[in-house]
Amino acid sequence: MRLASAIGVLALASGANAQIPALSSAVEPLVECRVWGDAASRVLIVDVAWPSGPRPRFPRDDSSVISNRMVARVGADGTALRPIEDDNEWANRCAREGCRLNYSVDVAKGITSDRRGEGGFEEKQGIIMAPLMRWLVRPEDRRARGRLQLDFNGGRNFELVSGGIDGRVNHIDTDLVVMDGPHVVLGDFTHKNLDFLGARIDVAIGKGARGVGDDDIVRWVREGAQDVASLLGRFPISRLQVIVGPGGPYAIGSAVTMGMGGASIFVVVGERTGKADLVRDWVMTHEMLHVAFPSMGVRQRWMEEGLSTYMEPLLRARRGRYEPQRVWAEFVRAMPQGLPKAGDQGLDRTLTWGRRYWGGAMFWLHVDVEIRRRTEGARSLDDVLRAVFSAGGNVASRWDVSRLALVAESATGTTALEDIYAAWSDHAVAPDLAALWASLGVKSDKKSDQVTFDDLAPLAGIRKGLTVRASLPAVAASGFN
Ligand SMILES: [Zn+2]
Repeated sequence: MRLASAIGVLALASGANAQIPALSSAVEPLVECRVWGDAASRVLIVDVAWPSGPRPRFPRDDSSVISNRMVARVGADGTALRPIEDDNEWANRCAREGCRLNYSVDVAKGITSDRRGEGGFEEKQGIIMAPLMRWLVRPEDRRARGRLQLDFNGGRNFELVSGGIDGRVNHIDTDLVVMDGPHVVLGDFTHKNLDFLGARIDVAIGKGARGVGDDDIVRWVREGAQDVASLLGRFPISRLQVIVGPGGPYAIGSAVTMGMGGASIFVVVGERTGKADLVRDWVMTHEMLHVAFPSMGVRQRWMEEGLSTYMEPLLRARRGRYEPQRVWAEFVRAMPQGLPKAGDQGLDRTLTWGRRYWGGAMFWLHVDVEIRRRTEGARSLDDVLRAVFSAGGNVASRWDVSRLALVAESATGTTALEDIYAAWSDHAVAPDLAALWASLGVKSDKKSDQVTFDDLAPLAGIRKGLTVRASLPAVAASGFN
């Protein structure tokens, strides 16, 4: 058991190194930030030791959330802070000699003035989304290499939590290039840690009204993690931050997974959520699948959402958490939403909700069935996802389709993924779903919204294979706990 875990850690560590630029502090400029926060006034005071080299730039700030901007020279001739407005040359001089920058950030003002969903401040049930790009000075050249270290001090009830690699509360240590990657939030949290198959999952639970206890939430996170680990044999990343928002009128509300610079999931668990809701929930498994799949960029976001949409019910069914009849009833009912509507183009070109989630799910279903058909059941999409994992692919890495196709081909000996992508990405293709259901032996009763199975259908074996627990890589079998 221990050996399996140790191998897992090593594999994950080397996988991570392949994706994230090495943090060699000796040669890279280091931006050091100290931030003081006040929970009552919701004001941050930011103090930055800026290194020589990159030219600093303040975030775009139309609503004057950032104020009292001061700069000081470093070195012998004076350290007094002066207002930045009086000195147009300050950024050049900072780039030449390094400098100290000091300013304040009115978070409360940001929450009321920033537009929702546009990368600004946002309050969700007492937790403040505070993306660094909104309030932290950064290199003008966004590709500039360097390292960011940030320490936050907000007292007992005001903490900073981020999905950054090192995972310490009130601390960020990351490559400057990916500083906007993971969630950064401010709030009052209870912290729980999960050691899971050699990976660490930190769960920051925002304090507030909620229908379930902290232990219920941890159990729920673990089940979602286990769903994905059952597929891969291991957990897809060495460290994951889960941030749970409290309160609110919903049961399990919006969830977002982010990856570059460290993986993080933000999810709201509301007052009305009961234990049974968590047991039945699909959201956590959906998000955990995002953690297991590389970031593909905007045009292929449908691949990410489609994979989570398609695999989530299968994984839960394989672990006995969901009935196969319900998986197929849901596919039959919902998948037509992924078919192209009049005027739609290929999946890379039409970025609507239906095409993204259910069009993507339809793609992966066809890829999976086609791999199984061409290999007479010897290979499946499971093999592709395990190979992606083995090649270091997870939400913290960025892949393109050609790399994915290559890995899929060597894992399955087929070009099923590449073939279907080539056909569906540019042009609106409407596969005959009724024929597919028939060949898989799925018969639906429109009135009752239920399905029955026909085991004599030509692809009935493939249908059964999708919801039975797949055999796992040998190394993983002893690694479960
Ligand atoms: Zn999603």
